[in-house]
Amino acid sequence: MLLEVKDIHVHYGKIAALKGISVEVNEGEIVTLIGANGAGKTTTLKTISGLRGLTSGSVVFDGQDISKMPGHKRVLAGLGQAPEGRGVFPGMTVHDNLLMGAYTRSGDFDADLAEVYELFPRLAERRTQMGGTMSGGEQQMLAIGRALMAKPKVLLLDEPSMGLAPLMVQQIFSIIEEINRRGTTVLLVEQNAQQALKLAHRAYVLETGKVVKSAPAADLLNDPDVQAAYLGGG
Ligand code: ATP
Repeated sequence: MLLEVKDIHVHYGKIAALKGISVEVNEGEIVTLIGANGAGKTTTLKTISGLRGLTSGSVVFDGQDISKMPGHKRVLAGLGQAPEGRGVFPGMTVHDNLLMGAYTRSGDFDADLAEVYELFPRLAERRTQMGGTMSGGEQQMLAIGRALMAKPKVLLLDEPSMGLAPLMVQQIFSIIEEINRRGTTVLLVEQNAQQALKLAHRAYVLETGKVVKSAPAADLLNDPDVQAAYLGGG
């Protein structure tokens, strides 16, 4: 197992946002967390990446307990993050944004840059454009491309489809599939349950800070309760 979240409890002040969440991600998988607004999906991801501290429980990555490790060290350890709200550097070119993703490591980045540009031809076309002038979908591509430059073992994605037009959503999802096919494990948080379940191997359904279901994604697509609650009535 590459990533194991064990019974984590997380509080915002006195409010319990996560009440004992456990999630497992095996090497090579795409795992998705779905659930309604406020269910705790983003908080789970933030706890894994080190942006939130936990009250109890643990996060084990690649055999190491990283529960108390600072976020930047988690990136070095191989947890790749494409943050919510994109987080690209607006005053830097696309190219320089991508290079920033590799700042944690040494070596020759040309092959990795070439691979990112191959995955995202749109970024290759616009390599001299400022990050801040890219469209929402393009900035999402840039955020994912930048995360890939760190050569992560696991890519954590927080609602990559948020605010994007349907065609762009399709593109982003098919690129995520390709990234996984090339060997990167993916943990995906999504509001768009239908698309996420089509893409993922396994899924967890979160409700008010707890996991209420976990199963192969294909099974959840056919689950009447999941259809009624998250897939527009099926
Ligand atoms: P969404 O899909 O709407 O982003 P989510 O499933 O990602 O929802 P979280 O963002 O993890 O849910 O929120 C879980 C709970 O924690 C919610 O009740 C939310 O209001 C609360 N919460 C999140 N961030 C904070 C914060 N910074 N301060 C206080 N409460 C917070």
